[in-house]
Amino acid sequence: KDKTDTERLVINPFIFNNLADFLTEIKGRVGIVAKGCDSRSIVSLIQDNKVVREDVVILGVPCPGLIDLAKIEELTAKDRDELDEITRQGEKVIAKVGGQKKEFAANQVLFDHCLACELPTPQEYDILLGEPRPPAPNMEASGKNIAGLKELTSAERWESWQNELSRCIRCYACRNVCPACFCQRCFVEETEPQWIMPMPRWQDNLIFQIVRNIHVAGRCTDCGECERVCPVNIPLRSLTREMYDIVGELF
Ligand code: SF4
Ligand code: SF4
Ligand code: SF4
Repeated sequence: KDKTDTERLVINPFIFNNLADFLTEIKGRVGIVAKGCDSRSIVSLIQDNKVVREDVVILGVPCPGLIDLAKIEELTAKDRDELDEITRQGEKVIAKVGGQKKEFAANQVLFDHCLACELPTPQEYDILLGEPRPPAPNMEASGKNIAGLKELTSAERWESWQNELSRCIRCYACRNVCPACFCQRCFVEETEPQWIMPMPRWQDNLIFQIVRNIHVAGRCTDCGECERVCPVNIPLRSLTREMYDIVGELF
């Protein structure tokens, strides 16, 4: 409630969270900082009558994209704890590791969903913090995982998803972080009827993800949060982005 608290606000390429996820839990008027994808999640919540437009003051941030630490770890062969500093300078990202500087093109280290971003500037806002950013989507780089899956035969793809979803521990982080997953009672918690078993068998994990994807179809803004938070690195965006594209084509 103290306005000097705003001095503690930080915006940088590591502030990942899509804050729209919290809007349905807050009563009364609230201010929210929103990147391009977050602002579209807010619009979707308003369209679903989950949020009243007049109750939110949107501070829009034209977004240069978020840095995927996993990609930097892979490129530097170092754990994120071993990296001294990471800075973005224009279209370059510089990682300091062991006293040495390593330079990468931003396209090498941004999250896949940011590589595909067509609307980095919020579409809905009350105050825009900064100049609008032109979109520069790189669909080929962003869609490598999905393209790889499409090259497989149906049997191979089935096996691949079986392997991936066998690792799911059903922590529900992917659901909880998603602004489009706003049901007060999720179907996975229903007991009459019980749609899926509580134990994380791959078959039930598959049903969870398929039904979740159907429920968020048309609401998902490709914010990438579900994939980012998965503790076992299941490539969930290969499902959500494919659904996003199908919905985009059909409607
Ligand atoms: S998809 Fe990425 S680049 Fe686009 S607004 Fe969201 S966080 Fe920013
Ligand atoms: S975040 Fe990952 S491990 Fe957790 S429920 Fe979702 S897919 Fe499963
Ligand atoms: S399904 Fe994933 S990518 Fe889509 S809105 Fe939810 S958290 Fe974001």
